[in-house]
Amino acid sequence: MAQHVKLARDRRKRKSRIKAMIFFVALFCLVIGGLLSLKHTAENTPLDPADNLDGQYQALTPTQSSTQSTTSSTEENAQVPAKTHHQQGSIDATSYDDELLGIDDEVDQVDLGDKLPEDAQNAVDDLLAAADQAKRISDQFSYTVVRGDKLKDVLEMSGLEDETSQILIASYPELKNLKAGQQIYWILDNENELEYLNWLVSEKEERIYELKEKGKFARQILEKKSIWKKDVLKGKIEGSLRASLNKLGLDNRQINQLSTALQWQVNVSSLSKGDNFAVLVTREYLDNKLTGQGNVDAIHITHNGTSYYAIQADNGRYYNRQGETIGKGFARTPLQRQARISSPFNPARRHPVTGRVRPHKGVDFAVPIGTPVILPADGVVEKVAYQAGGAGRYIVVRHSRVYQTVYMHLSKPLVRAGQSLKRGERIALSGNTGISTGAHLHYEFHINGRAVNPMTVKLPGTNSGMGDKERKNFLVKAKSAERLLKF
Ligand SMILES: [Zn+2]
Repeated sequence: MAQHVKLARDRRKRKSRIKAMIFFVALFCLVIGGLLSLKHTAENTPLDPADNLDGQYQALTPTQSSTQSTTSSTEENAQVPAKTHHQQGSIDATSYDDELLGIDDEVDQVDLGDKLPEDAQNAVDDLLAAADQAKRISDQFSYTVVRGDKLKDVLEMSGLEDETSQILIASYPELKNLKAGQQIYWILDNENELEYLNWLVSEKEERIYELKEKGKFARQILEKKSIWKKDVLKGKIEGSLRASLNKLGLDNRQINQLSTALQWQVNVSSLSKGDNFAVLVTREYLDNKLTGQGNVDAIHITHNGTSYYAIQADNGRYYNRQGETIGKGFARTPLQRQARISSPFNPARRHPVTGRVRPHKGVDFAVPIGTPVILPADGVVEKVAYQAGGAGRYIVVRHSRVYQTVYMHLSKPLVRAGQSLKRGERIALSGNTGISTGAHLHYEFHINGRAVNPMTVKLPGTNSGMGDKERKNFLVKAKSAERLLKF
């Protein structure tokens, strides 16, 4: 921002210097013209010396000049002849000799070169610039947009009528959409018309609108290019993997992806203090500062002397070093670690008291109340319900047109019906609700609505989902990630 203020000022400065130059050159011409005509016909041409005198006084009176510096050059040029014309009658009649004296001094100076001596020129320039700047500062405005602001509301703060914003928006409709937090900086010209407007659209973009002629603005779009860099972040786990990755600046989504990708190889929650990890990230930088945008390309973790990797393929999914599936297909059980089966799947099971056949349509895992239930495959939650006289709290998830899974006796569901979930996400905490003789998780696997044995069913979708070429690319990528993530 400050830089643009400065640029704008510099531009103004340059402009006024050019104006001053034009002014002095015009003056010089008048002087020479005057002299020549004097030499030729001294008595008959009273007009020209009069011009010179008038012009000369203006030039030698800095305060007067500086106030003119903010007017446009065309007006300034027009002013000199206009004034002389107006005054010619009175001057030519009175002090002809005095004028001659004055003109001679001026001619001496002009003869040294085509402009004022450097010192004088600098002094005049400084005065012009100072006056110009002082004037500018009083006419520059800045504002941070709040919700609901329209351009006219913003410009109104400097006393501009709606017309200005209408003209701007007619040419540049994007100005209709100001957003909260954006900054606007603008300058009014000497006639209190909008001359320059700088709209900081985002960290990466600003748009500048400059008055070219009455009612016409030119636009300039400045965009800052960001750079994407690969970085390797290394550390030792302190607290949890989540906390450690968070400390490195990874966001929750990225951490979830990595946890999901890793938890099929290693129990992420068992990772402990001192386990090493290294993460390969591609991050966006703007002016050497992180923008917060980034992607996790790979992670390497060591636990009990074994290395575990999750490496992203071009399809966005994470795989181990061999390109084997990590997050796709069905996991055998909906639990993070192996649990004892307290009652197997059994379509012919008999009730121990009544002796009647009561098929056991699922498998019971003996797990303490509060054990996380992990979704074994991507799916959509079909139902979250409660049956006091039976299943207790239970959840049904649909994984495709063909497959469903069911979870019963839960203590706490963590999802809602309709939610779309990825394999590996926690959907509930196990419990002992409904008709149940102890803490356990009852898990069913349905194919076309019919319960099958979850422990023996041929699980669908266990290939990597990568074609041959994709897989080849992945293996190259994995090799390079492995090299970068060495401890
Ligand atoms: Zn059961």
